[in-house]
Amino acid sequence: MKKALIIGGGPAGISASLYLARSGAVHVTVVTNGKSSLEKAERIENYFGFAQPVSGKELLENGRAGAQRLGVVFHDTELLELGITPELKFEAETTLGKETYDAVLIAVGTARRRPSVKGIGEFEGRGVSYCAVCDAFFYRGKNVAVIGQGRYAVHEAETLRQTSASVTLLTNGSEPDAEIPDGIDIIDKKISEIVGDSKVRAVMFGDGSKKETDGVFIAMGSAGSGEIARKTGVSAENGVIITDKDMATNIPGIYAAGDCTGGLMQISKAVADGAIAAMSMIRFLKALP
Ligand SMILES: Cc1cc2nc3c(=O)[nH]c(=O)nc-3n(C[C@H](O)[C@H](O)[C@H](O)COP(=O)(O)OP(=O)(O)OC[C@H]3O[C@@H](n4cnc5c(N)ncnc54)[C@H](O)[C@@H]3O)c2cc1C
Repeated sequence: MKKALIIGGGPAGISASLYLARSGAVHVTVVTNGKSSLEKAERIENYFGFAQPVSGKELLENGRAGAQRLGVVFHDTELLELGITPELKFEAETTLGKETYDAVLIAVGTARRRPSVKGIGEFEGRGVSYCAVCDAFFYRGKNVAVIGQGRYAVHEAETLRQTSASVTLLTNGSEPDAEIPDGIDIIDKKISEIVGDSKVRAVMFGDGSKKETDGVFIAMGSAGSGEIARKTGVSAENGVIITDKDMATNIPGIYAAGDCTGGLMQISKAVADGAIAAMSMIRFLKALP
């Protein structure tokens, strides 16, 4: 059986998983860290099939249970890295380890917000980056900082540590939410501003102190659509993944569905996207040798 990976267990990812599983030809794994925006919806009245309002949580639980009944495997974990192997397979690294798949659906919801720190927008491309594996090369032997406090931030810091002179994790006033390996410094003060001239020079903190740095990598929360797109070369604009009518991206074998593809950010559209993407993935997988 061919192996499909779905990143995201919201309506788009779960809808796709149903079609893939029912094709009978695909082993389906959903990797999800369980923060669907639907969980915040207390009362849904505009989705087909409910005489009374339904909560987003209930819809999600039912959706997941239905997929599991069809054999879809859920891993409650976080995608950290997605790469393409020389054999044109997709290697996904999660907190559980690495696994290779024949096709991937990105269904991670809306793009992650960047922290509201003065200077981030101004220095994007001039010292502010969103992808360690893409840009570590430019910071060889330099001092870099990573803004974030979770497992994804640590993953980005570890990637940078292999080539940079020093890596400092800036938690921006939060407690670190992951084990910090040796060799990564931590500053937990609130950040006030990123400063520089033609490029980033330092991060300023609320107490007036500063940390000089050559680069700042943003890794808040988990890897969102923008980060995953950068890691794989998938075309995206402002975190919105660009797809064709079959929900295919510019990279053969990678599809996207739901809020991360923009447009109407509603359950009905996410579910439809997921179905279309799954049908395209089935065709793609069947054509593989
Ligand atoms: C308060 C609120 C109320 C709403 N009310 C309505 C409504 O009444 N009607 C309606 O139609 N729509 C409503 N919506 C919108 C609806 O929730 C979304 O359009 C829909 O959930 C989008 O589905 P999705 O699958 O694209 O993304 P999401 O539901 O956001 O799911 C994305 C999934 O990706 C996972 N994920 C992200 N990054 C990673 C990673 N790195 N590793 C692993 N997993 C990851 C998340 O954990 C999540 O499970 C509401 C939204 C909100 C916030």
